[in-house]
Amino acid sequence: MSSQEVEVLVVGAGQAGVAMSEHLSERGIPHIVLERHRIAERWRSMRWDSLVANGPAWHDRFPGLEFTDIEAGSFPSKEQVADYFVAYAEKIGAPIRCGVEVKSVRRNIGAPGFHVETSDGEYNARYVVAATGPFQRPVIPAVVPETAQLMQMHSSSYRNPGQLPQGAVLVVGAGSSGVQIAAEIQRSGRQVYLSVGPHDRPPRNYRGRDFCWWLGVLGKWDASTPALGAEHVTIAVSGADGGHTVDFRALAENGIKLVGRTMEFQDGTMRFADDLGTNIANGDAHYLELLDEADAYVERNGLDLPEEPEARLLRPDPESLTNPIRELDLAAAGITSIVWATGFAVDYSWLQVDAFDAKGRPLQQRGVSTEPGVYFLGLPWQSRRGSSFIWGVWHDAKYVADQITIQRSYLTHNEQDALVASGAV
Ligand SMILES: Cc1cc2nc3c(=O)[nH]c(=O)nc-3n(C[C@H](O)[C@H](O)[C@H](O)COP(=O)(O)OP(=O)(O)OC[C@H]3O[C@@H](n4cnc5c(N)ncnc54)[C@H](O)[C@@H]3O)c2cc1C
Repeated sequence: MSSQEVEVLVVGAGQAGVAMSEHLSERGIPHIVLERHRIAERWRSMRWDSLVANGPAWHDRFPGLEFTDIEAGSFPSKEQVADYFVAYAEKIGAPIRCGVEVKSVRRNIGAPGFHVETSDGEYNARYVVAATGPFQRPVIPAVVPETAQLMQMHSSSYRNPGQLPQGAVLVVGAGSSGVQIAAEIQRSGRQVYLSVGPHDRPPRNYRGRDFCWWLGVLGKWDASTPALGAEHVTIAVSGADGGHTVDFRALAENGIKLVGRTMEFQDGTMRFADDLGTNIANGDAHYLELLDEADAYVERNGLDLPEEPEARLLRPDPESLTNPIRELDLAAAGITSIVWATGFAVDYSWLQVDAFDAKGRPLQQRGVSTEPGVYFLGLPWQSRRGSSFIWGVWHDAKYVADQITIQRSYLTHNEQDALVASGAV
């Protein structure tokens, strides 16, 4: 079977693939984007029903288009986010082919570029951009065996409380997903236990500005990538119910029982680390530091933003914090299900090139991989904190498009023409 020739093949049409297409088109670089499902599929079908964006509509978007169906300060629903990227792809005329899965990418031998096998034929691509997302494979730590009499699901499979059997629920993980899911289940009338690890919890709004604004002006979206092996601390934020600061004490006041990091399960009993107090205290310290930095920014720039001293008042410690539960007999506590909001890993099994370390992690710098001609986009911390978010991926895509342009210009370089142009001959 003959292969279709393509200059740049982009794999995945989430926000990363759409951004990549825009920047390639701007530079006149021929390309196609292959998407196995639909544009922005993960926003449509791999997230819970009530999810709204964590950032307001004015922030969580690309520069070239505003949300039209929602106020700038509101939080778009997951469907509105997906619709936004479909509209964006249409606006820029992105050459996206949906329903085509990339099965393998291999380096050509004795010829430039890559041989690509897909569910719809073969391609020969000079460059490949892997834009398949930061969150591909759900990770559930091996703590509770499948034989335990409990329903276990990952946050990416959670849709709504109606999915869960009657009874109390343990939610493991207190990043943005875990806290939002725990609050929703608790509101549905269940007893919820929330296992809280290390986290940052920026104020949703301070002195009249959203945290997205503060992270922007304080340069924190642009914070550079931590060294390999440095501990990643999840950010707990929420746009649910119009947006509010994640406050673990308030969750406890509403009836959620907080516990430390989930450690081990034996004979029906779950054990939790003795770290709840430390995790909450570190989260508070980060929160208060951000208020200090925001105040200093206001003063330094002479801004007229209303003071908000009440933002510094912390609620009283709940019982689960003063007297933490270290062991829980799940059956006795009535727990019948566990939602693991414990994050994701990447899966590049289709990308069979020399661009990974022994653990399968991409070897790349700002998206430029160790395999010449292969690029990544949308990785967590690819170039900065914002890289895996809507705001950041657009800027990373611009950089990757520049790198492809530079490589193409070397290939079209003609030594003799260059000498003539410079007047040397
Ligand atoms: C619960 C949750 C909430 C989030 N909320 C926000 C938010 O509010 N604001 C924000 O900025 N960020 C948010 N993020 C982070 C980030 O914006 C999203 O994860 C986003 O989906 C990443 O976009 P992406 O294009 O990089 O990857 P994805 O959206 O994962 O898109 C990758 C695409 O590649 C396709 N694909 C994969 N493999 C192949 C293959 N072999 N062949 C063809 N196609 C393939 C997939 O079908 C998918 O459509 C959130 C993440 C999660 C998990």
